[in-house]
Parts: sequence; structure tokens; C-alpha cells
Amino acid sequence: MKNNIKLKVCGIRSPANMMEVASAGPSYMGFIFFEHSPRDVSRTIAQLPLEQLPEHIKRVAVMVNKPLDKAREIVKKFKFDLVQLHGNESPEYCKSIRKEAGVIKAFAVSDHLPDELEEYFDCCDYYLFDTKSDMAGGSGKSFDHSILARYTLEKKYFLGGGIGPDFKTDDESLYPGLCALDINSRFETSPGEKDVSLIKNFMQNLELNKTSSINLSGCFPDKEGFYGKFGGAYIPEMLYPNIDELRKNYIEVLESEQFKYDFKNLLKDYVGRPTALYYAGNLSEKTGARVYVKREDLCHTGAHKLNNVVGQALFAKQLKKKKIIAETGAGQHGVATATVCALLGIPCTVFMGSKDILRQQPNVLRMKMLGAELVPVESGSKTLKDATNEAIRHWINHPEETYYLIGSTIGPHPYPDLVARLQSVISEEIKKQLLEKEGREDPDYVFACAGGGSNAAGAFFHFIGNGKTRLIGVEAGGEGADSGKTAATIYKGTPGIIHGCKTLLLQTSDGQVTEAHSVSAGLDYPGIGPMHAYLHNSKLAEYIPVNDKEALDAAMSFSRAEGIIPALESAHAIAALDKFTFSPDDLVVLCLSGRGDKDLQTYEKHYS
Ligand SMILES: *Cc1c(COP(=O)(O)O)cnc(C)c1O
Repeated sequence: MKNNIKLKVCGIRSPANMMEVASAGPSYMGFIFFEHSPRDVSRTIAQLPLEQLPEHIKRVAVMVNKPLDKAREIVKKFKFDLVQLHGNESPEYCKSIRKEAGVIKAFAVSDHLPDELEEYFDCCDYYLFDTKSDMAGGSGKSFDHSILARYTLEKKYFLGGGIGPDFKTDDESLYPGLCALDINSRFETSPGEKDVSLIKNFMQNLELNKTSSINLSGCFPDKEGFYGKFGGAYIPEMLYPNIDELRKNYIEVLESEQFKYDFKNLLKDYVGRPTALYYAGNLSEKTGARVYVKREDLCHTGAHKLNNVVGQALFAKQLKKKKIIAETGAGQHGVATATVCALLGIPCTVFMGSKDILRQQPNVLRMKMLGAELVPVESGSKTLKDATNEAIRHWINHPEETYYLIGSTIGPHPYPDLVARLQSVISEEIKKQLLEKEGREDPDYVFACAGGGSNAAGAFFHFIGNGKTRLIGVEAGGEGADSGKTAATIYKGTPGIIHGCKTLLLQTSDGQVTEAHSVSAGLDYPGIGPMHAYLHNSKLAEYIPVNDKEALDAAMSFSRAEGIIPALESAHAIAALDKFTFSPDDLVVLCLSGRGDKDLQTYEKHYS
């Protein structure tokens, strides 16, 4: 069927299966609110991570003669895009609920099209033709489709009622007005559990319209930027227009052909992707599992950071911004930003605390060499958080021409999602590379260090919720996670707001953000990206602290075992391997976020 017919998968019931179905790329997913159906979710809907569904998959609440106020409540509370009405709801009822959501009015069909279609013409968005049966909500039986050839109304319809894997048509003219196929019971292993490979094959065979296939597995916030209760955009009113512009445009830009083309090419030839997935034989022997190292240290400028910066700089270009600003602490993000701005010919200003400028001379010199303007910040403690304040002030004063480029999965919505999507190339590659090397896509473990959480978000992304891979985020424990001198945000943190989003952070009981401590500058952050706070809360990933000394020791032994000097941040992830007991067949992927050249002085100090 080549004329853009879509797919609706109805009767979803369990969280894992829901995410799996989403990965097939249907356009609609239906949830049944009807106590007499074996696929009823009336009581269990809150357990489904609906906020995880990508926005382009529309959520449909299926109901039968539900009192209007109940129906409204469901739509509002769970943010449904559409309702599908299977009872004898009146045209007035449809009109009324249509103020809250789109309406699909279902009609049972036997041997002729229903007479009342015209009556509902102005009060619904689509019709749905289903089989006449006693059991509302689907019977699995079909009707004679030949009557549809005579359909002449302008309104598009969904076709349901017993559509099975064997459904096919060579002649689309038999279905004038058809816009979507609605499938349910005939694609199941048991009531509510969909057989996803059957669905994928079906879509492929019929050439059904597939919603954008990139990033369909993964972890997404809802429209307001919330991952469960974390995320959002807590910003001063003066920033609303700036943030709104990003929020309204980022998905469209990321999914545009132009962006995809430019991003892919720059990642390939400039950043140096795909980065190698290297089987670390010596480390494997020591660890007692098959350990692969994802070599983000081989990216240009020496870390994963460039993936994000390249993507956001292209986004800034599409928004026709004239200038890019960034803040930096240790200087790594500043250098990455200065690098890409030089490449793309965009003027770049980096805000940096004057104390950090003195501490980070090599990176300061790099930024200057690359032509960036460096603004020393003299206020407050003259470090990262003061630089952040200064950058935001600048942004508020120059909203039209300036793009503010954030370096991790933090900040107000849409930044965490934007950065996670851009970094998700890491797990996209891991999947392909593992399939090639090991014959399977999903490892048993992924380890990644987490400061703001961007390399971990990228390394986890396509494995989240797959039910097969344990995702381990490694935080900086500093001098000990309970020592008071730590950056173990998930372990020690409590919910609060930092840099525009709600997440877990280190704070005093009266809500003052406390300073983070870690020997590693890249992990020395009192908050963590909201996606990780959510993954932790929902147990979709696990987080453990590794302290300074453990990381430093791991850096040394890894350098000597594999001939790769790791960044101190990445060394935290390496050290975490020692805290697990593996079986010899376990497939472990370790995200080596960056190289260790920048940390040589710290290493020398520790070992001498
Ligand atoms: C910046 C940095 C990190 C920490 O940032 P995330 O956003 O948590 O990934 C980790 N490793 C390296 C090498 C870095 O440069």
C-alpha cells in the first residue's frame, strides 16, 4: 500500500511490550479503558511509562460509553492525543470531548456502511470501521470489505475488525478514504502482549507508513520535558522566548533530511565516527567477562563531547543564529565548542571563571588558538556556576542572534532531550558493531561514567527498557560517597531544581546547592541530567559511586593492560567493573568517554 497508510496498534497493556511495539514505528497506539476487555488498562495505566513514547506516536484512549467527565479526566491526566469511541456516544458527546482531544468515532459494520455517518461528520476527526459483534472493543473477526469500495465521504477512516497478518490488498482503489489500519488481537502472543516481529513484518510487507525510525527505542520526555517527575523547564520569564524557540524547532530540525545529512557527514569525516568497538582481551581476562570498549576517546578533540557540539552547532545554523556562546569549567566543553565554531565559521564566546582560567591553561590556549573569545568571569567563586550565570545573562540580553550551547544532558527542556538524541549515536553504533562481532545487538551490561550524564545517555539510549541489558551509570564518589566530599548525586542527592530542571542534586536540608567534589573535573557537578534521575527511580538503570582513589588506580592498570590512557572520568567506569561478578559469557560494553592526556598531571601526582 503505497499511499501512506498508517498503522494503529491497539490493546497495549504492559510497559516492556509497549516500548517494544513503539520501536516498530506505528503511528498510533491504543489503550483500552473498558472493564470487560481482557486488555483493559483502567486500573494499570499509571504503571505504563506513556511519557516514554516518542511524540510522533499518537496515544489513543479507547472507550465505550464512558461518562463524559470520566473520559475528560482520563484524556487530561494521561495526555491522550485522541479518543476512540466505541459505544453509542452522541454527536454532542463527540463535539464536547473533541475540545480536549482528537476523536475517532467507531462504527460496527456488517453488510452495509452505517446510515449515521453523516450525522457525525462534523464532530469527529476520523471514522473507524469495525466488525459488528456483541463484545465491544474488538472481536478479532472481519467483515466483507467490498462495501468500502463504495465509500465516498471526505472523511478519512481507520479500518479495524480482525485484521490479521494475512491481510493484503493489491488494489488500493478498493479502499478509498482509508488512512490507517487498526490491528489488535491477531498480532498477539497472549491478550495484550503484541508479537512485535509480526507487526514489523506486516508493516514492511504492506509498506505501511513508518514513523521516523531513528531513536524509536530510547528514552524521551513528555511534551513539557518531563521524564516522570524529573526534567521540565524552570526558568525566569525572560528566558521563555529563547527556550520556546528551541523547544518548537528541535525535533523538526533533527528529523529534517538536511540536518541528518550534514550531521552524519560531519560525524563521519570530522569527528571520526563510527568510533571503534574494541575487544579488550587483557581487561576481559581480569574481569571474567567479554569486555568491549567503545572508543569515544578516538573522537576529534579526545572525547564524546564533540558529537553533541557538532549537532547543536548545526541546529544553531538552521535557526539562523549569528553567534554561539557556551560556558566551561575544566575547559573541555569550551574547546569542543570553539573547535566546531571555527569549522563552521560561527563566532564563539566562551564564559569561564577566572579561577578556572588560571587552573586550565592548556585548554585556555586551545580556545584562543581556535579563535574563540574568552570572557573571564570575576563574580562569586569565579568558577563554573558563575560562568553559567554570566552566559545566561548574555543570552537573555541577546536572544535573537545568540545560540546557547549546553555541554551535557542538563538544563531546561529541550536541552536534556536534544543532547541525549545527539549522543545516542554511541549506542546506535554499539548495536551494529556488536551484531557484527558477537551476533547479537544487546549486551548484558553497559558501563558509563556520569557527570551531567551525556556519554552515559548516549551509551544507554537504544538499550533502555529492552529487558536484556543492565545499564550501569558510574558517579564520582570523590573522597567517599558518604564523606561529604563527593559528587555522587544519585546516591546522595535529593529532588530539587538546578540549572533550569528538576532532578536529583546535592543540597542542604534547606535547599542550598552544595559543592561537589571529585578529582575529575568532568564529573564534579552537584546535579545530574533528569533522564538519569528518572532511569534510577524507575529502575531502568543502576547507579553506583566510585571514589577518587579507585578511579586513579583503575586508570593506571587499564593503561598498562590495554595501552590506552583513559580520561579520569572514564576511569570511574573502568573501576566499577571490579564491583560486579560476571559470568564468562557476559557481554560487557564499557564507554571510554575520553582520552587521558588532559589528566597526566593528576596521574603523575597520584602515582609519585
Ligand atoms: C565532560 C566529560 C565527561 C562528563 O560529561 P557527561 O556529560 O557526564 O558525559 C565524561 N568524560 C569525559 C572524557 C569528559 O570530557
